[in-house]
Amino acid sequence: MATDTTHPPTAAEQTLSVECELAGRPGYEDLHGTCTQLADVPMPGAPAITLVRRCRCACHRTAAR
Ligand SMILES: [Zn+2]
Repeated sequence: MATDTTHPPTAAEQTLSVECELAGRPGYEDLHGTCTQLADVPMPGAPAITLVRRCRCACHRTAAR
């Protein structure tokens, strides 16, 4: 079992997609619409591991539920 720390788990407090992170900057608001991380993506073959976390940007909260 190798310990690959190439991508260490970031703080769970803010899980934003690349798009929404950029969209937080003035002039890039449109990027919120290009965010595709609307659901958790499990790693193929290892459902227990989340490959891509759902974007927790506030712009999605109103749409979800
Ligand atoms: Zn967003």
